Formats: sequence, structure tokens, C-alpha cells
Amino acid sequence: MDYKKLADLLYPNVDKTIDDYEKMYPERNLSEDAIVARFAPSPTGRMHMGNLFASFIPETFAHQTNGIFILRIEDTDDKRAIENGTELILEDLKAYKYKVDEDPINGGAYGPYIQSKRKDIYSTFGKYLVSIGRAYPCFCSEEEIAHIREIQTEKKDRIGYYGKYAKCRNLTYEEIEEKIKNNEPWVLRLKSNGDFNRKIIFKDLIKGTIEIPENDIDHVLIKSDGIPPYAFAHVVDDYLMRVTHVTRDDSYISSVPYHLEIWKSFGFKVPKYAHILPLNKKEGETIRKLSKRKDPEAAVSFYNERGIPEEAVKLYFATLLNSNFEEWYNANPNSNISDFTFTFDKMSKSGSIFDIDKLISISKTYFSRLKAQDLYNLIIEQSKQNNNQ
Ligand code: GLU
Repeated sequence: MDYKKLADLLYPNVDKTIDDYEKMYPERNLSEDAIVARFAPSPTGRMHMGNLFASFIPETFAHQTNGIFILRIEDTDDKRAIENGTELILEDLKAYKYKVDEDPINGGAYGPYIQSKRKDIYSTFGKYLVSIGRAYPCFCSEEEIAHIREIQTEKKDRIGYYGKYAKCRNLTYEEIEEKIKNNEPWVLRLKSNGDFNRKIIFKDLIKGTIEIPENDIDHVLIKSDGIPPYAFAHVVDDYLMRVTHVTRDDSYISSVPYHLEIWKSFGFKVPKYAHILPLNKKEGETIRKLSKRKDPEAAVSFYNERGIPEEAVKLYFATLLNSNFEEWYNANPNSNISDFTFTFDKMSKSGSIFDIDKLISISKTYFSRLKAQDLYNLIIEQSKQNNNQ
């Protein structure tokens, strides 16, 4: 098959190349050990403690190394997005004095920082994968996909579009041309060359070395409306934003083999990944995830209303981030968070328990160390805020 011809057939209007984008977003002029990290939420509403902690991590590592902290809005799943979602997130980050270097509202040289505005970029990268034979169009309808799933369930086979189930994988150029002429909708799929019976060895900054089966599923890279699901979008964005460290929720760990396959199909250097365990809550003998629905202390407003300053919450986050922080903080009464050097390997591998009593106790220590004038200013500030509420 002439893959270049196929790429032009599928993307006749894409005239840019990856090279063009690499020139637009050149490697950053930073020192070798500087960390470029991002917080990449969906714009679904106000921050809660879970994502405030999740953003504390890249912000801390980026600035500790004189790097860059990016806020990228992932709004490709528009069902959950709310209209002013980006503004609310930025407002909450600013209230906690996180230094956001690049974001969708104030911009930066590596934007747009909102995925729905990056469609042309994704098409260019998709076109490239077609041109090297690593992606193909799939015309299967939702009903056909559901049917494949039924057969797999019946046969107790793995679910997914792979191997003999991937029927569009072997369409000829002529068959594809015919379908395109008939305006049949299509999605772009990865042509996986993985083998489920082989394992990849992957080094996570927090969890250490992990072995997981290779990906062999021809996942959807770009949907028929030109919008990519998370996997493809994050690879393209993290590459062009020159992100060095991907810190994200631990729930993505099982998708790592697929994500690595995308990185490698482009031939790009893979950034470091750090998968963060969620904040947990202890309820009697059981441990469960801190929930923004069930737990009032999961809301950021909970702390404002009780006069617990942002700095105290951050000190608590610092103790969760590195187990040796607290001892250091107690031994260094005149220091603050930015004087401490955090490392990924001192993060919990089993998940942290969110302990409100400890947070309050740290808050007390913080207050006790404030100079009279600073304490006065803080109280005035809090009274003003509470009067406005
Ligand atoms: N948008 C993803 C989420 O909210 C972010 C994942 C990532 O940080 O890569 O879960």
C-alpha cells in the first residue's frame, strides 16, 4: 500500500507537517535538570482536595528545578465540561498561590493550552502516522463494534479491536477510496504491532519498575469529528509542550503500554511518568478514596470557611508528598516549603490517608510561627473574605 497516498486521501486539507510544529514549539531553553510539568484537568467545575494535591506535585517539582508549570485544559470529553470551567480552575490555583507559567487564559509560547483548539495539530500528527503505515481508517459502525464485543464476551476472549477482530485493518486502498467517496464516517486507529503475550518493562518514578503486557489493541486515535480521545491527545500535547514529567492519576497505569506504543510509533523520546495514588480516607477499618460527593473536607471551601490558610494546606500536602518533610519542617522553624528538596521516590507507593486532624495540627504549627504582623494581615484578609461570602 502507498501510505503517503492514503494519508493524502484521508487528510487532503492538512498541509502542515510535524516538522512545522517542531519549529513552532522548539525545545525549551532550560537547564538540563529543569522539569516541565503540567496539570491537565477536564473543565468540570471547582477544584477539590484530590486535584489540588495532584496539581501541587507538578507545580512543586517544576519550580524547585527552575522549570515550567503548565495548566492544560482537557475538554475533549465535552459531556462533563462546564462553561467557565477553565476560569474556576485557574482561580483556585491562584488562590493557593500556585505559580502557573502557561495556561489557556494568559497564554504562553506553547499553546493553545485547551485541547478543543488543537484539532489541526492532531490531524497533522494523525496524518503522519497514516503516512508511515502506523494508523488506518476504520469504518465500523457502533453496531458492528457492539457485535464484536458480544462475540468476544461469548467466547471469553479479550475485549477490543485487535487481531482477527480488526476488520478494517486490512482494507485495500481502493476499498478505502470507495468508502471515502461515499462519505462513510471513519475513525483513525493505531495499527498496533504489539503482542499481548510479551511484556514491557516500564519505570515509573513513584512505583518503580513495572511489567505489563504489551498493547495489541488498535485503539481509536482520533474520532470521526477530528477530536482525539485522551491517549493520543496527551502524547501530542506533552510532546509539543516539551513536557519532561507526566504526573497523573494512578488509574492510567494500565494504559501505559498503549501510550508508550503511540510515543514510539512517532519515534519521540518518552517523557518520565509518575503515577500518583489517590488521597484516601479511613472509615473505621476500611480505606476508600476521598470523595468529593461524600466528604465535606474534600472541598476547597471547607478550609476557607474554617480559617485554615492555604499555606497550611500546602504544608500538609508537602508531608504527603515526601514522608521526610515533616521532620525537616519541625527542625527548621524559619523555613518554608520552597526550601525543601522533594524527590519522587519518597512518595507513597500505597496511597496516602487524608488526615484532617493532622492537617489542623500542621495549621496550628504554622500559625504559631507567624510573625505578629503577618498573623494580623492574615486575619484581616480572612475577615474580609468571610464578610464577602
Ligand atoms: N484530563 C485527565 C484527567 O482529568 C488528565 C490526565 C493527565 O494528567 O494526563 O484525568
